[in-house]
Amino acid sequence: MSLSRPPNIPLNDLSRGTKRDKELLLAATAAVLDSGHLIHGPEHANFERELAEFVGVPYAMGVASGTDALEISMKAAMPPGRNTVLTGANAGGYSSTAARRAGFSLAYADVNTTTLCLDVDSVAAALSEEIGVVVFTHMYGNLTDVSALVQICRENGTVLLEDCAQSIGASRNGTMAGAFGDIAAFSFYPTKNLGGLGDGGAVVCSDPVIAERVKTLRQYGWKEKYNSVVPGGTNSRLDEVQAAFLRRRLPMLNAFNERRRWIVSRYVKASASVPEAVMTVLPAIGPSHVAHLAVARSSHRDAVRDQLLMSGIQTDVHFPVPDYRQDGFEMPRTEDLPATTLACAQVLSLPCFPEMTDEEVNQVCEAIAELR
Ligand SMILES: *Cc1c(COP(=O)(O)O)cnc(C)c1O
Repeated sequence: MSLSRPPNIPLNDLSRGTKRDKELLLAATAAVLDSGHLIHGPEHANFERELAEFVGVPYAMGVASGTDALEISMKAAMPPGRNTVLTGANAGGYSSTAARRAGFSLAYADVNTTTLCLDVDSVAAALSEEIGVVVFTHMYGNLTDVSALVQICRENGTVLLEDCAQSIGASRNGTMAGAFGDIAAFSFYPTKNLGGLGDGGAVVCSDPVIAERVKTLRQYGWKEKYNSVVPGGTNSRLDEVQAAFLRRRLPMLNAFNERRRWIVSRYVKASASVPEAVMTVLPAIGPSHVAHLAVARSSHRDAVRDQLLMSGIQTDVHFPVPDYRQDGFEMPRTEDLPATTLACAQVLSLPCFPEMTDEEVNQVCEAIAELR
């Protein structure tokens, strides 16, 4: 019998994916080196076309990160005369960062207590003439039914921006995440369901005028070279070599997502006999959920995280501090939103990545089942 401690199970291990795909990624690099196109070359054009096809929208534009995708989407789609972005405050602060960088004001609505995505009634109550963009984050990969929200936003003249950084590949009745709202942002940060080897992002939309504005804004506001015509332009490009990597990984995405869902389903099963106050695992069932994270809730989060760590299981919290309590966003202190504040105090994330071995998943399950 071995006396060593059980192996540590990390929240994520990116080296497994890069090792698995090494030959593919080296070939992609070679293709870029041979072509001599390092920015906005053929790999980038093909990736944009393939991503648009995958999401089922006419336009996809590569940008340098998910946060840039949010910022550029806000600038491109903000209706004239409006200047406020409404979003959830439990989604990592990316939309708040983007809105502040774009020079817009911020407002928050509360989240649904079950899905932890924006609550439609809370959004409806908060909408006004000032709010030009609502950012709806499909939290943890969960594409909820947003049809009522689409309608409410349209009636208020407000743009619906989907934050799909965690939900690429999720679909509802055959429609993909990113095809419900007016515009959508994606991130290819290495830990996302479709991850590159560095930063990257994309904007997708169906409106040719907005698409053109995105293309202009990502390159200095240029209409043609060296002539800036749209204010708020920046340098935000997806590198050719990243586009080449992402193209090679896009065909694997559905299998990755299936594996993530399976991991979460195992955790849900393992937690069946654990008292609800100790821990419940949020389910991730069917094509509408791509299980970006395996998220649980606990009224005794610190104790639960300690117990899991004793069993060699790494955990994290996505996300611990509501945006309205973060000084960096320079908000006037707003009142706490109760469901949001509670969620931030209770959520924890368990290891969940496609390259986890069955044995590792079993070990996490055993540790979950022991929680009291
Ligand atoms: C990761 C993430 C982003 C930001 O993406 P970056 O590429 O890291 O800038 C935005 N929104 C959500 C919900 C995310 O999880």
